Amino acid sequence: MSANGLRVLLVNCNTPMDNLIPAGVSLLSAVLKAEGSQVRCFDTTFYRPADFVTGDEARAMTLQVKRTSFSELGIHPKPGTAEDDFRALVAGWEPDLIGFSVIECTHRLALDLARAIADYRPEVPRIWGNVHATFAAERIVGAPELDMLCVGEGEVAIRELARALAHGRRPSGIPNLWIKNGGVERNALAPLVRLDDLPEQDWEIWERERFFKPMGGRIWVTGTFEMNRGCPYSCMYCVNYGLNRLYAEQGGYFREKSIPVLVREMLDKKKRYGLEFAYLVAESFLTTTRQRLEQFADLYPAVGLPFWVEARPESITREKVALLERCGCEGISIGVESGSHEFRRRFMNRNIPNDKMVRAMGILADSRLRVSANNVIGFPTETRDLIFETIELNRRFPRVNGVMCAIYNPYHGTRLREIAEAEGYISPDEVAGDYRKETIMRMPHLSPDEIKGLQRTFPLYVKLPKARWPEIRRAEAPTPEGDRIYAALAQEYTERHG
Ligand code: SF4
Repeated sequence: MSANGLRVLLVNCNTPMDNLIPAGVSLLSAVLKAEGSQVRCFDTTFYRPADFVTGDEARAMTLQVKRTSFSELGIHPKPGTAEDDFRALVAGWEPDLIGFSVIECTHRLALDLARAIADYRPEVPRIWGNVHATFAAERIVGAPELDMLCVGEGEVAIRELARALAHGRRPSGIPNLWIKNGGVERNALAPLVRLDDLPEQDWEIWERERFFKPMGGRIWVTGTFEMNRGCPYSCMYCVNYGLNRLYAEQGGYFREKSIPVLVREMLDKKKRYGLEFAYLVAESFLTTTRQRLEQFADLYPAVGLPFWVEARPESITREKVALLERCGCEGISIGVESGSHEFRRRFMNRNIPNDKMVRAMGILADSRLRVSANNVIGFPTETRDLIFETIELNRRFPRVNGVMCAIYNPYHGTRLREIAEAEGYISPDEVAGDYRKETIMRMPHLSPDEIKGLQRTFPLYVKLPKARWPEIRRAEAPTPEGDRIYAALAQEYTERHG
């Protein structure tokens, strides 16, 4: 059977100017094209509302990364609105299936787009997928803007849906799909795919501008490659907690792609797309077998692209760090999250002592890798004192190039979302915000403004002498005086620490 001629419009509901090729949508396109479907993608990335602060800008404004500018590369936001351009594309191309990839931050955007085509052929299914559709399924399934949800991974579901539509069958009984047909047909989960069985990603659906990604103060032509899917851990604030729970009967959600298959695709795409940098999707790069890491070290030099990895501190050893250096790894982000061992253990399911983290950072300090410490503040029940434990822990790290500070947001599918709802910090129907910019939680002991003030001063508290802390405290305030003090401190920090 094939889905010959079926026109499928994939809608990548992305936050403005967040430029990184999404492997998931690229894979869906590849699966559909292998079935004979025609595929186009409507991508919201370059639609930027007036006065919108992008995630990269928010990080630069809070001293976490260097400023970069897409406009220097001739990349500018599109002039029109996403809704108008989407409506025109749908009217002109007349798709037979419209698939929205939606994350929690883009839930409202997806609704706006779906409403913009409310008059378009009602028999054409509108399906929503990705993590938000998976974990907020019960809450959003009633929305009139959508006809189906993909709960869980999408490759098998979209292939079966395309086959049914191409053959004029009413979609029913398709694994992973929730289908609205008067009631809601909730189909069971399909077996997880083997990553090696998937086709290579289809990047022909993306504009050339989509390959430019800021990293370490520079903008690189970057390709995204899925090395693993999911994570072997289940931290309570992370979506992998929900994915591992959803797929518990299948042994969890985590799978690895074999290294030769990964490297083959990288070699091909490096040449075809002129890549300068590789973004490897691997939630905890070093948490794998020694044999796999050695195979990567043997085969990856043929690819030769600089890359950046994320890792848990407990996975750091001198041997593994030497291996990363040998492969041309540019830098490493270490998940620190909180400075309180007890808080990490109780509220995150991360049971690593602080001394062990400091030792891991010491090993990295001796390497030539750039090192980022990933911190998060504003967790449910977290206090100002606990945030200062995180600052104190960061001060013990011998060398960190990037002091990152995200703001916790209660994403659906995480255990901490359930706690935030139970504590009354959010109402059940609220959607979470952007972890780089703000919290949606209302905690009586720590206001959103105080969290934002701590976020912007976090690197200052970490890197400047403690004698400056009273001054830094005044820079937390969102007042003209606080802003003035912050601007002076930020300039000093940038001159000293880059
Ligand atoms: S290690 Fe990272 S990716 Fe894995 S569950 Fe924890 S936070 Fe999520």
